[in-house]
Amino acid sequence: MGKKKKAIVIGSGIGGSGIAALLQHSGEYDVRLFEKNGLVGGRFASYRRDGFRLDVGCHLIANCDKGTLGEILEILGCPDAVQWRYARGPKPAFNFKGERIKFPHEIHKLGFNNDELQGIMQFLMETGSIPEDQWDAWDDRNMLDQLEKYVQNDRARIIFGILSGIYFVIRDHETPVGEWVRCNRMFEENKSSGYPIGGTGAVPEAYVRALRELGGEVCLATPVRRILVEDGVARGVEQRDGTVHEADLVISNAGLKPTVNHLVGRGHYGQEVLEKIDAYTYSEAVFMVKVALDTVFVENENMVMFMGRDDQAELQRELDEGIIPEVASQAMIPILSNMDPSAAPEGKQLLIVGGGVNGQPLDTPRSEWSKWEAPFLNALEMVFPGIREHILWTVTTSPADVDRLFGEEGNVIGIGQKVGQVGDRRPAMEDPAIRNLYHCSADTGMHGIGGELAADSALRLYRKLCG
Ligand SMILES: Cc1cc2nc3c(=O)[nH]c(=O)nc-3n(C[C@H](O)[C@H](O)[C@H](O)COP(=O)(O)OP(=O)(O)OC[C@H]3O[C@@H](n4cnc5c(N)ncnc54)[C@H](O)[C@@H]3O)c2cc1C
Repeated sequence: MGKKKKAIVIGSGIGGSGIAALLQHSGEYDVRLFEKNGLVGGRFASYRRDGFRLDVGCHLIANCDKGTLGEILEILGCPDAVQWRYARGPKPAFNFKGERIKFPHEIHKLGFNNDELQGIMQFLMETGSIPEDQWDAWDDRNMLDQLEKYVQNDRARIIFGILSGIYFVIRDHETPVGEWVRCNRMFEENKSSGYPIGGTGAVPEAYVRALRELGGEVCLATPVRRILVEDGVARGVEQRDGTVHEADLVISNAGLKPTVNHLVGRGHYGQEVLEKIDAYTYSEAVFMVKVALDTVFVENENMVMFMGRDDQAELQRELDEGIIPEVASQAMIPILSNMDPSAAPEGKQLLIVGGGVNGQPLDTPRSEWSKWEAPFLNALEMVFPGIREHILWTVTTSPADVDRLFGEEGNVIGIGQKVGQVGDRRPAMEDPAIRNLYHCSADTGMHGIGGELAADSALRLYRKLCG
């Protein structure tokens, strides 16, 4: 074998840690990974507090070992480096204004008339059976228009809107039908949604462990200040303290826009390219309350999706005006320590309640962000009456916190999988102007949900670079 090429990876999110480990494993590259934070994993990172283990962001993984996150471990030859707990028994539940509903079997409990019910069932059946060879074409149509062909009802819109929110963290009118069907089909076939034992951080930590064991280098708390470019070619990186590292190849996990705008510099790009990059929009951001309980209060639930409202017009008004409601209109409530008992000390419980924040601007002061805690705790109390008395402490994570740690306006996914920004219309992995510079993050994943979209990018780049 010839001399190994030197690769530098900027960022240890799923895309960064995944591609770093895969390239080192290929035997063709020597990889050095730089992460600006002290923790590995980006939006997937986990940390401990008072014996509880908290994830910075995520709650549920779409396909666990059977999805792209597991595929990376397979290629690395360590499929068991992460243990997964499927969220099957019991399956995620719906809670409508305090009443538990099994979805979609008990959808009749939501007060639809027969015509509406028939419309919803037809919508589910016909949309779900769109053949695979048509999914790409259906990516040009949105879920709201699709639903409204069958039923025009605020409550139905809100229910299916919640799914767009949970899958892609975007609105129903932006959600491509093709991607929705594609992801649903994977759920149905794999039946492996769940949670990694050890927290979401266990996944990037396993990638980084593999990278180190294979001889790669990991530099935490080491921000890259800029990517060095000479004659249109990436030559290496410069750390914030001025240290320079040369490389044959630079891969940025920092996101397309931050890489172009800050690490390379806009001066290296033509106007047309910049306009295209500027036009991409992010998914939305969420507010999360991580709740530590003094007892195991919730039994036999892994995940609850709460829907507190069905007055779409009023909701829209509150959204447009940035109003903080008394009870969160929608919330996702994963009961983490029921899926992974190691998330809480014996006899205690950890759960998260979180959701959208009505377009609250990022520069909202901390005191204002904290006002979002009450609506989510009120929603939690509606779902599990009496739970409030058992709260030991809470930790809130606002979009501004996520932005401070990982950038990209604190959004959840990266560049959103919206109509016009999905499949082969997502940003390319090759930088549009700089040779030997690649992008590898959720921004450049083609398909999948959240972390799996980022892992998809790592797998595609690995296949591109290692044939
Ligand atoms: C609140 C929340 C909830 C979520 N829920 C889920 C969920 O339930 N399921 C799911 O699958 N996904 C979920 N996601 C989405 C998922 O976490 C992301 O899509 C995915 O982790 C993004 O990975 P990435 O590879 O794009 O990199 P990121 O996670 O964005 O990481 C990029 C890394 O680059 C580093 N970096 C940036 N600039 C520099 C620099 N100059 N020098 C060095 N390092 C740098 C950052 O510190 C960061 O570690 C959630 C995200 C959030 C925020």
